[in-house]
Amino acid sequence: MKLDELAGVGKSSADRFAELGIHTPLDLLNDFPFRYDDLRVVTPAAELAKNDGVEENAIGTIVWVRERRARRLAIVEAELADESGSLTAKWFGRSYLMGALRQGMRLFVRGRTQRTPTGAVMNVAIHKVLAENETYRGELVPIYPAGKELTSRKIRQVVAKNLPKLLTLAGEEPLPKTILRARHVPELREAYRSMHAPASPEESARARERFIFTEFLALALAAQMKRRKHSAEHNARALRVPAGLLEELQRALPFPLTAAQRRVIGEIWQDMARDSAMNRLLQGDVGSGKTLVAAAAILLAARNGVQSALMAPTEILAAQHAAKLSPLLMPFGVAVEAVFGSQSAKARASAVVRLGSGEAAVAVGTHALLTEGVDFARLGLAIIDEQHRFGVEQRARLRSKGSAPHTLHMTATPIPRTLAQSVYADLDLSIIDELPPGRSPIETFTLRRSRLERAYEFVRKNVALGRQAYIVAPVIDESEFELTSVVAESERLQKTIFPELKLGLLHGRMPAREKEDVMQRFARDELQVLVATTVVEVGVDVPNASVMVVLDAQRYGLSQLHQLRGRVGRGAAQSYCLLIAPDEALEIERLQILANSNDGFEIAEEDLRLRGPGEFAGTAQSGLARFRIADLVRDIEVYRDAKAAAESIIEEDPELRAPGHAGLRSLIEGEPSARAMLLSS
Ligand code: ADP
Ligand code: MG
Repeated sequence: MKLDELAGVGKSSADRFAELGIHTPLDLLNDFPFRYDDLRVVTPAAELAKNDGVEENAIGTIVWVRERRARRLAIVEAELADESGSLTAKWFGRSYLMGALRQGMRLFVRGRTQRTPTGAVMNVAIHKVLAENETYRGELVPIYPAGKELTSRKIRQVVAKNLPKLLTLAGEEPLPKTILRARHVPELREAYRSMHAPASPEESARARERFIFTEFLALALAAQMKRRKHSAEHNARALRVPAGLLEELQRALPFPLTAAQRRVIGEIWQDMARDSAMNRLLQGDVGSGKTLVAAAAILLAARNGVQSALMAPTEILAAQHAAKLSPLLMPFGVAVEAVFGSQSAKARASAVVRLGSGEAAVAVGTHALLTEGVDFARLGLAIIDEQHRFGVEQRARLRSKGSAPHTLHMTATPIPRTLAQSVYADLDLSIIDELPPGRSPIETFTLRRSRLERAYEFVRKNVALGRQAYIVAPVIDESEFELTSVVAESERLQKTIFPELKLGLLHGRMPAREKEDVMQRFARDELQVLVATTVVEVGVDVPNASVMVVLDAQRYGLSQLHQLRGRVGRGAAQSYCLLIAPDEALEIERLQILANSNDGFEIAEEDLRLRGPGEFAGTAQSGLARFRIADLVRDIEVYRDAKAAAESIIEEDPELRAPGHAGLRSLIEGEPSARAMLLSS
């Protein structure tokens, strides 16, 4: 059925519906109101406007009605009286009402009310003329997300006119009876009706919960199925963990492993010792020592004669990994081979030969690892750094270079445990929740834009002490949003603020080679100040840098800022982070959270609370956290229930083959996030 076959929808309104993503009657059925205006309860005139600015309902008899003009706007005003008193009702720009409203009529009105010295005044949004003896029966009016040229009212009218027809499209009930009964939720068709035409707010709330639950259930089922399938496939190579390997690793290090590193290495090795492939996410704050954990996994693979590949999203990051892993693995005779897009044909060819023959045990690189021709003799371990920055296919492509390799995903963006457990429900989770000892926390200050010069003064002082500094700006070129341009600011700094210092410029539009060159010079202390965009966010490791200045800090999420400041504090010197924001108190307050905490997980929780999961760093790009009406923060309890239900369903029927579970399978098919989860590897 086409949308314009519905009563009240013509060709042109069908186009307007299409602009809202509503192309079919089924889309319309699934277009839920985001709130309801409650027209059921009428407030006596004398009690109106107790709270300024809320929408209220009233019924009164017209005492007088008149029209006046304020500049060019026509305003119709009427006094309505009930037993308790009276109110003034106002309509803006609706002259035609003068012919329709007459003294003595009974009127229902709804709108925002305001108290004035002469009584309550209502800016009328909805009114209805009542017959002489009509008993008023208000209802809940659904309010739909409107389009530019499509009002909520029009949507409401179309839905109301066609509701019985729309409800026939609801389809079969996907939930098993046991769940319906246990959760006391309405059956599918009834739930749709309750969303569009609820008899009470409670009824719509039950219906909404049903849809939230099913959205979560689909994702949780997909995750469980995938886990099941994974562990049922005994196609991975079970690696042997030699006795004393951890101590051997420890002896090669100049510092003791933290307890968290030991625990996490244990978890990873245990997975790798199984014949079903590891699929684990390693989370740890910046500086928590993830590289070492990756090295431990690589070491185990090498001891078992299989190769490892580590893929990172940028060349800078990949180069850094290679540089850090080499010395860690060298004592064990494990050589690291780099595979970058920018390397010479000769270097690439030699890497390809050595990986193909099995001579090289480890490949570290970028997407270049995925290119055809880069093959491994025996790839047994795939490590994907900043895994959310790769697509599903890219991750799968790396793994396909081996036969069911163990896979370790890494991220330096801490995600709150609750969110990680749902968004990455198909992965096992390892968390390094402890920093190596002896780090003094980065001292963080928030500064108003008007005091920027003081921040630069601070930079100058630290550079005089032999340290280096980062200055981060949000955009490359001048933009219309009054954001600081990294190009313009670096010119200004060099000319007028730091003429005596050597400044470097780094941003994403520079050629890879040039970026690399600037980074190298900064790392060698040939540049004292690096003015950059957030490309420095990941991977850059210059221990002598001790000051981070972030311009327009209000632009970023707290987690991202935490990530940025992790670029300093990597050496012995006390480090500082200065967050610069416009002179508006609100922003400064949010940023203050960073001044008070150095714990990435705690900051992530706060970020999640403030911004919601959709915007949350990392998950936005992953495509997995997209829910239509559910919200992982608000509805976390419902998520837990759905997860528990999914576990028991899959326990009983791992592939959802039971006749009573056919609906659940179609549920997964119908939810994009769940489908993506099943397809991803
Ligand atoms: P991450 O990748 O988690 O941000 P890294 O692996 O780069 O952190 O480690 C940060 C720094 O801490 C490195 O210089 C590393 O040598 C050092 N480091 C790692 N583990 C320890 C430890 N147990 N004790 C002391 N220093 C450590
Ligand atoms: Mg690292």
